[in-house]
Amino acid sequence: MSKESTGSTEVTGLADEFPGSAGLSGLPGELLLDAESLAAAADDFGHITHHLPAAVLRPGSGADVAHALRFAASACIPARARGAGHSTQGQGQVAGGLVLDLTVLRKIHDVGADSVTVDGGALWSHVLAATLPRGLTPPVLTDYLEITVGGTLSVGGVGGATHRHGAQTDHVLRLDVASADGTVTSCGPDHKADLFHAVLAGRGGHGVIVRAVLRLVPAPTRARRFQLVYPDLATLAADQSRLIAEGAFDHVEGQIVPGPTGWTYRLEAAAYHGPGEPPGDAVLLAGLHHLPGAVGEEIEDLAYGDFLNRMAAGEAYLRQTGEWHHPHPWLNAFLPGADAVRLASDLLADFTPADLGPSGVILFYPVSTARFATPGLALPDDPEAFLLSLLRTSPPDDPDAITHALAQNRAIADRIQSAGGTLYLSDPT
Ligand SMILES: Cc1cc2nc3c(=O)[nH]c(=O)nc-3n(C[C@H](O)[C@H](O)[C@H](O)COP(=O)(O)OP(=O)(O)OC[C@H]3O[C@@H](n4cnc5c(N)ncnc54)[C@H](O)[C@@H]3O)c2cc1C
Repeated sequence: MSKESTGSTEVTGLADEFPGSAGLSGLPGELLLDAESLAAAADDFGHITHHLPAAVLRPGSGADVAHALRFAASACIPARARGAGHSTQGQGQVAGGLVLDLTVLRKIHDVGADSVTVDGGALWSHVLAATLPRGLTPPVLTDYLEITVGGTLSVGGVGGATHRHGAQTDHVLRLDVASADGTVTSCGPDHKADLFHAVLAGRGGHGVIVRAVLRLVPAPTRARRFQLVYPDLATLAADQSRLIAEGAFDHVEGQIVPGPTGWTYRLEAAAYHGPGEPPGDAVLLAGLHHLPGAVGEEIEDLAYGDFLNRMAAGEAYLRQTGEWHHPHPWLNAFLPGADAVRLASDLLADFTPADLGPSGVILFYPVSTARFATPGLALPDDPEAFLLSLLRTSPPDDPDAITHALAQNRAIADRIQSAGGTLYLSDPT
């Protein structure tokens, strides 16, 4: 049964713009019209774009989602799925439309021998909580786990295991997709494949993922994690490329962070292992060109689950300082491998630690493009690509700083695209 929250927005107030919108109140699920719910749906992790919807629906089932989509289409009301809201450019928002809050559909249905069936609004941390006790894990995880399965499958989902296993979208066995014709369609690589491939990395534009069957692999017990410091970007990139070619490490990433005298370059690599002795450091690190013992170097042995959840402490800290809630004018892109060091160096020459912001970080790591199989995920035409993520923060209440950051992102994105790179997650228009 529908429930309308009390608030300042009247459904009937939409009638002029969207004839037939009064029928919103008949939608199955919980309909939210109060100012607080609408304002929350007009915000995201970016805290820059704000599109106020007319209503938010918390559906009770996949059928409710399909029903709402059909109603919205017939009433010419734009509708959009929203996961955890960790986009940075309003991707899950819709001005004057209907936001479908998928986070209420978050059940883990079944953990099998090599797959798990989950609702589209389940967080990856929920997925792991169900699979790790069975000794199973998704092959690829994002650095941050408090985002939804539907949200990352709508963009791709990459992380330190991508060099070996591609994107999260490459490990989906089946999807249940709610569409504007009011149906929920089951699709997979061999069944209604057109819909399946359109929805994966489809940015929410081809239907709403209400349920997914995800591939699982045996989970390791522990992770030997290395954070090594490098003298410069070229040396870091050369070692990263070597590591992904040789395959000794399960996880390969890298960061560029402000240091005392400019940028500091770091490799983050992890080798997974069983409960016994970790693999020998000397063997793993042989031939690498890092600066042994440099400030910032860390080598530790972690439970696999703790390694995957390594962003939790940083999130808690940033929530405490308030920076988690500051504007995030992020830019993510894949650079063509052959030109990645020159391109990134040129971009960094014009990009300062002040541009990055106090808690900002730049991700820089290679992936093998042959490992990707998702048609919707645009990658450079190069056997190797480097993810370059400018994870920047802007001061709050400073519109000029945001305007500057967005203009800078646009110029950087143009340079990346004209060099054969592709944008990931969003296009900074
Ligand atoms: C701190 C942080 C760390 C991150 N780390 C990584 C990382 O390591 N690797 C990586 O690849 N990405 C990373 N991301 C980006 C993240 O994967 C994307 O922004 C993702 O889309 C967020 O998912 P969400 O649940 O918040 O979705 P939302 O932001 O709510 O929505 C994102 C898009 O997906 C659509 N959508 C949401 N749910 C569904 C659904 N069920 N069906 C169809 N469409 C849907 C929305 O309409 C929207 O277009 C990170 C983001 C943050 C904030």
